[in-house]
Amino acid sequence: MRDLLLATANRGKQREFGRLLAGIPGRLVFPQDVGIELDVPEPYPTYAGNAAAKAEAYCLASGRLTLADDSGIEVEALDWGPGVVTARFGGDDVQDRAALLLEAVGDNPRRAARMVCVLALATPGAGPGGSPRIEIVHGEMNGELARQARGEGGFGYDPVFLQADGRTNAELPADEKDAVSHRGRAVAAAMPRLRELLQAPA
Ligand code: IMP
Repeated sequence: MRDLLLATANRGKQREFGRLLAGIPGRLVFPQDVGIELDVPEPYPTYAGNAAAKAEAYCLASGRLTLADDSGIEVEALDWGPGVVTARFGGDDVQDRAALLLEAVGDNPRRAARMVCVLALATPGAGPGGSPRIEIVHGEMNGELARQARGEGGFGYDPVFLQADGRTNAELPADEKDAVSHRGRAVAAAMPRLRELLQAPA
């Protein structure tokens, strides 16, 4: 059975991928399982550029088929920011970025919001000159920015992202978030290719 390495140390993402990839014909492993600790810079102006950089770095370090996620939240009032810099929104020392986002938007009525997930799949040795080959897929979820944080589930900005039924992502049971989330959709789009790569003869 082949390994699929998930290129993230983010425990919230690891939990979600653990559920979303439970049915793959392979063994899902995390960096801590294979003794890899990398801090990959994310300097690119696109989710795809950053996801590809993470997938490539972990693939080269591990020699394994690797999946990386770059994601973010986009809010109309912030001209669809913070987007690709969501993880660094407000700087390095912020404790609660979701609260800071609410503060930045204030009473602005332009509260349409979306979450975006871009996945990069890196196959060792299959690219030009024996480099990893990178394939990209996207997923999105539309909603609104809440006025107040609510809920205990999920991670990151989930307590401030409102679904059409008025619940925040952090109030959804995990399987309901997975069914509608940016990450769930991106994984569904990647699944046929993942199966193919995990089942390909060695
Ligand atoms: P990056 O992909 O490592 O650049 O970071 C993604 C940023 O978006 C982090 O601040 C996450 O907390 C946030 N984020 C990504 N996906 C979700 C989600 O499903 N719910 C809430 N926040 C998320």
